[in-house]
Amino acid sequence: MPAALSSPPAPAFSSASADHADLDLDLLRKYDRPAPRYTSYPTAPLFTPGTPAEKLLESLRAESADASRPASLYFHLPFCESRCWFCGCTTVITRARGKADAYLDDLERELDLTGPWLNRDQPVAQLHFGGGSPTFLTPAQIRRLGEMIHARHRLAADAEVSVEIDPRRLTPAQAAAYHDLGCRRASLGVQDTDPRVQIAIHRFQPFDQTREAFQLLRDTRYSSISVDLIYGLPYQTPASFARTLEEVVSLRPDRLAVFSYAHVPWLKPAQKILERDRALPGPEEKLQLFALALRTLSAAGYVHIGMDHFARADDELARALRAGTLQRNFQGYSTRAGASIHAFGMSSISQTGRTYRQNTRDLGAYHDALAAGRLPIERGLVLTDEDVRRRRIIMGLMCERRLDFAALSAEFGFDFAETYAPELASLDDLAADGLVVRAFDGIELTASGVLLVRIVASRFDAHLPSETAPQNRFSRAL
Ligand code: SF4
Repeated sequence: MPAALSSPPAPAFSSASADHADLDLDLLRKYDRPAPRYTSYPTAPLFTPGTPAEKLLESLRAESADASRPASLYFHLPFCESRCWFCGCTTVITRARGKADAYLDDLERELDLTGPWLNRDQPVAQLHFGGGSPTFLTPAQIRRLGEMIHARHRLAADAEVSVEIDPRRLTPAQAAAYHDLGCRRASLGVQDTDPRVQIAIHRFQPFDQTREAFQLLRDTRYSSISVDLIYGLPYQTPASFARTLEEVVSLRPDRLAVFSYAHVPWLKPAQKILERDRALPGPEEKLQLFALALRTLSAAGYVHIGMDHFARADDELARALRAGTLQRNFQGYSTRAGASIHAFGMSSISQTGRTYRQNTRDLGAYHDALAAGRLPIERGLVLTDEDVRRRRIIMGLMCERRLDFAALSAEFGFDFAETYAPELASLDDLAADGLVVRAFDGIELTASGVLLVRIVASRFDAHLPSETAPQNRFSRAL
């Protein structure tokens, strides 16, 4: 009999506690192991170069035919003027603004080549500009980008349009150009406000500069501002990071993302520089920094949405969490359900209900493919029925914090608890340690389980390497 069904009936599901004053650090320590971040399932390392582009694009056409299904557009703008040594993004470091003109030519070709596979009546519910640094573009280049998009896609009246901002480079004209394009949400890269940390990571950004960028965006009528921080950087201590949190919270951002620094110098060689002063916090120090962020932001009235995301209680994300309508995709947590993601630019990843496809991560190859009239797809994946079901289960844990057996059985057309009995039984240790609570009709994450959701979700991952295999493909859970 499945373990979950053998448990006595439990009380109705309740929300995991939002009060982190009683964090169990020993438990977090025990399960702080490598695990995927599940912005997709299967995860990106499983996308394969041999997947035929036609197959990936046919799925795109089939899905777009449903004009009631919303689309989400993503544009990757890879340019940055200098390299931050911690950075894990796909970037092109240059000061030559002309490179962005050539890149916009390529983006326009990509939009045109993708056009025949898409239904232009499909409303765009979400549009996001990420990078790299979208603020590398001049106001004229931003306006051109907007015209290219608006000429080919129909934005829904309530579309959520957002942009990533580098406060060191933002000018009033850029803020206005992105606003004219439709942006009302902005996320600011801050990472840490301590000058010693900033110098160590090669990203000097006085707090006044961040405050001024914040004010500029508010004055330009951006309605939601988010701040990105990173813990685990060189020279960060609980005392220094407490100051960072205090300063950032004083700006009253609507959302915060507090990412764990992922040290992967074998993938990102510039990160090797951060080993130089032997000042990188170890796992124990990182855990203390994470706990500090959680407690500070909870005390300041922010709701922990999941993983690294926090939002004010009246924010759309917090409301979606309460309503059980939260989604997760390559940009983290989202409120827009059921959207196909059409991504443009080098390295960007697109998603339909049954496929993932990723563009080449090399700028030259990206340009060459488009110049030859080909979409620059480097690798992809066609999901099996089993992949689709497991993605539903994993995203259920990541977003709803629970699995409702009856609802999943109705959705899948078979008895969920019986079919996934081995996976449910594999939760025994997590249940014994208080990460999940079993009910007769489902499982629910506890407050600790929410923090370690990657570990719980990985028990349903059919592609994960065995525990003995090298795990450096994934960062640690915290
Ligand atoms: S952190 Fe941002 S600004 Fe710095 S190199 Fe990476 S993408 Fe560019």
